[in-house]
Amino acid sequence: MTKLYEALKKYFGYDNFRENQEDIILHILEGTDVLGIMPTGAGKSLCYQLPAILSKGITLVVSPLISLMKDQVDYLNSVGIESAYLNSSLSGAEYSFIIQGIYQKRYKMIYVAPERLENESFLKTINEMNIEISNVVIDEAHCVSRWGHDFRPSYTRIMQFINQLHIRPTVAAFTATATTNVKEDIVHSLDLKSPEVYITSFDRKNLEFKVFVNENKEQYIRNYITNHVDESGIIYAATRKDAEKLNQYLSGHNINVSIYHAGLSDADRMRAQEDFIYDNVQVMIATNAFGMGIDKSNVRYVIHYNMPRDLEAYYQEAGRAGRDGENSVCILLYSAADTAIQKYFIDESDVSEELKSHEYKKLQLMESYCHTSTCLRRYILEYFGDYSLTEPCGNCSVCNTEVEEKDVTIQAQMILSCIHRSGQRFGRSIIVDTLRGSRNQKVLKFNLNELKTYGLMKDYPKDDLDLLMNRLIADGYIYKTEEQYPILKLTNLSIPLLKNETSLTIQVAKQEKKVHADNSLLNKLKEIRSQIAKKEGYPPYVIFHDSTLIEMSIQK
Ligand code: ADP
Ligand code: MG
Ligand code: ZN
Repeated sequence: MTKLYEALKKYFGYDNFRENQEDIILHILEGTDVLGIMPTGAGKSLCYQLPAILSKGITLVVSPLISLMKDQVDYLNSVGIESAYLNSSLSGAEYSFIIQGIYQKRYKMIYVAPERLENESFLKTINEMNIEISNVVIDEAHCVSRWGHDFRPSYTRIMQFINQLHIRPTVAAFTATATTNVKEDIVHSLDLKSPEVYITSFDRKNLEFKVFVNENKEQYIRNYITNHVDESGIIYAATRKDAEKLNQYLSGHNINVSIYHAGLSDADRMRAQEDFIYDNVQVMIATNAFGMGIDKSNVRYVIHYNMPRDLEAYYQEAGRAGRDGENSVCILLYSAADTAIQKYFIDESDVSEELKSHEYKKLQLMESYCHTSTCLRRYILEYFGDYSLTEPCGNCSVCNTEVEEKDVTIQAQMILSCIHRSGQRFGRSIIVDTLRGSRNQKVLKFNLNELKTYGLMKDYPKDDLDLLMNRLIADGYIYKTEEQYPILKLTNLSIPLLKNETSLTIQVAKQEKKVHADNSLLNKLKEIRSQIAKKEGYPPYVIFHDSTLIEMSIQK
């Protein structure tokens, strides 16, 4: 026991384990197979790195992303855990050097790409050299399943490798995303022997999630702060420029905030952070540079001025609200420009194509969160493979918005058949252009103006078309390929819709949204009403809708 805590402190610098870590580690050390389903950021790596140190032989870690292996191995070596990786990026000489090191028992951990295990000579070397492998760890284990979103054929052959080792090692599999299907696939395909299964909950019940699309972001934030002056909040912006812009706007309206981003001096950042932590300033505007190691417990709201790159990032940043367990709010203000900027960041990033396409896909799922009509909490939890929520949560902006159903079957059919008739080989903007009867270069070049669907939706409002398109993608009627310039394709869901066997309705928010106005807002509104009534001589029609209208009334 104490040995565990000593190693935890010595190699990782932590005093305590997080949920499930200790149990998982003890099971691995005692030779029991384990399946760990834990949210991103929950600390899966530690669950196998710590037992690796305490095990007699080598721990082999199968990991799908070459680019991440190097980071992990560099880190481990830097804290004194001798490690190496074997993948296609190595030269012959480097490979031999590591194999020799394995023979000389130089390493505690070896990271391998799954393809490497298919290589007979690797297996032969291990068996002939009599190398003791204590544990085989399969990270991102959902890759073994065709049901998952990251299926990797070579993962299905890991079991063969394990079975051919002279001594069967302990096998531990980890993933952040697992449905029941995937879970069963992992246990079967990896042939886990009576595994202990641990599932760390993803749900943060005290957080209320809200998304607003195309709000006037600055004004929304200004009003929110004004109505919650006693509360501590963080506002995340995607770029330094955005953070500065918002800072100027709020300062211009006499709202006192701190600002934190990587472009500021160490001293400025330090001061901003302390002001915020010690409650001298209530609001922190920040980029994602802010947050590492921040543990302020009474943050009552986190507003995203821009959409972040993926739900992992969003949930982590939004999750800084309400650490004390008190009710808190997480608001995301979305506009299409947010997607564009994140896409730009991915395009420009210096990583492998493999990792890029992975990130485009995650970005798409993040965008779909902003357009979904399903409960936001459920969307998040299911993204992380937590299917425990079977009812809508009643505590998010989707659950709390009154909506009306609008039949859009015909419009959806137009979009789907346009994709079909143009051969499922174009991206979104060309499909939209074709439907709207545009004469742009590409439309003409590919003779799309000769299609039956050309111009079919020229009188349909562009915004509504965009909205419907988003919905069709978010709900899986259209599949957007995972490339830099994604192509739209039909899915199994779209066929019955095209054949008129099913219909599609979308929910549109009723004009008058349910407002969760607090009293200060109500009082302000009453005051405005009476002011206007006095001046104009009649009761004004003030829609109890959003702060914009109140704003306008004040200016009047
Ligand atoms: P996952 O693979 O589950 O997404 P990681 O293994 O990358 O998560 O861990 C996420 C973060 O949590 C890392 O910064 C890690 O150092 C930290 N962490 C892991 N275990 C602990 C712990 N017991 N105490 C504090 N921090 C931890
Ligand atoms: Mg991980
Ligand atoms: Zn909900």
